[in-house]
Amino acid sequence: MKSFFPTLLKNERHKAQFGEHILRGTLAHAYLLQGPTGTGKNFFAHLLSAALCCHRQGEDGIPLPCGICPACEKILSDKTPDLHHVTAGDGASIGIAAIHEIKSDMYLSATEQAKKIYIVHEAEKMTTAAQNALLVVLEEPPPDVVIFLLCEDATSLLPTVRSRVQTVRMSLFTEDELDAFLKTAGRDIRFSTIDKEHYRHLLTAAGGSPGKALSLLQTKELNASYAEKERARAILRAVMARADFLGIHEATAQLSTKRQELAAELQMLILAIRDLIVLKREEHAPLCFFSTPEEAEECGGSISMRCLFDLYDTLREAITQIRQNANVNTIVTILNTKFSSIHTKR
Ligand SMILES: [Zn+2]
Repeated sequence: MKSFFPTLLKNERHKAQFGEHILRGTLAHAYLLQGPTGTGKNFFAHLLSAALCCHRQGEDGIPLPCGICPACEKILSDKTPDLHHVTAGDGASIGIAAIHEIKSDMYLSATEQAKKIYIVHEAEKMTTAAQNALLVVLEEPPPDVVIFLLCEDATSLLPTVRSRVQTVRMSLFTEDELDAFLKTAGRDIRFSTIDKEHYRHLLTAAGGSPGKALSLLQTKELNASYAEKERARAILRAVMARADFLGIHEATAQLSTKRQELAAELQMLILAIRDLIVLKREEHAPLCFFSTPEEAEECGGSISMRCLFDLYDTLREAITQIRQNANVNTIVTILNTKFSSIHTKR
């Protein structure tokens, strides 16, 4: 049996399908690789590009891509003029100018590879104008051009863009798989120095992403992420204890006053509430925030379903307001009022 993309973990179905398409010459001209940060989207795009141009494509007993021919070497190390990256860089968005630039380049012949490849990172950052500008080439691309759009959440792309590309969802790892992966990939780390509770938190907080898990192995990141979780747990405990305004205020006082950080913290609280809701429905449901059902029980087990949904709506509303530039202190004050009255509304 042919070995396709052996260096990419998991994603077995995608690897087999893409491998067959490349050997038959039936690969589409544009793909959307979707998944959280650290799930290998960029790596897979490079492997696919190498496979498309590999000099040993189709040889018996040689994996695809071979990884060592000149085409593979140059593409995998990003050292070929035929592989182009589009990024937002320091900016918040990818504008129309960046798309016009690659569009005009697409009509020039490849310099050294069999294909010209374009990887658009964080494709959801393309402005509407940029996405519309890309439509023409997605519809009818110049010959020998392949486009990879990488994004976390495809729903933020225009439906017209989504309908012109094939979407590939990167595989997520289970906590056991992440553990096994870290024990191999993180071999420089002394696991004995990470306490069990922090490590359990890491496996959950990684959300199935091996890249995120690796970055959380850094002590500083892990401590910050764990502290964030602690803040969320303190708020839930205060709600469960039916604390008054001041009691809730004491718990929310630890939240960040920076807009983006506050939004991320409230998003984490939403994950915790999501866990509490699914646990009420199914005892063994997979969790996104809590490491164990016992931990969830201790933080919010006795909060009623109705209150959980109220909390959820309140937090969604707060995040929307943060995005609409409402005053951060006002948002937290409103949260304190709502959280302290949520039990009395029943
Ligand atoms: Zn090769």
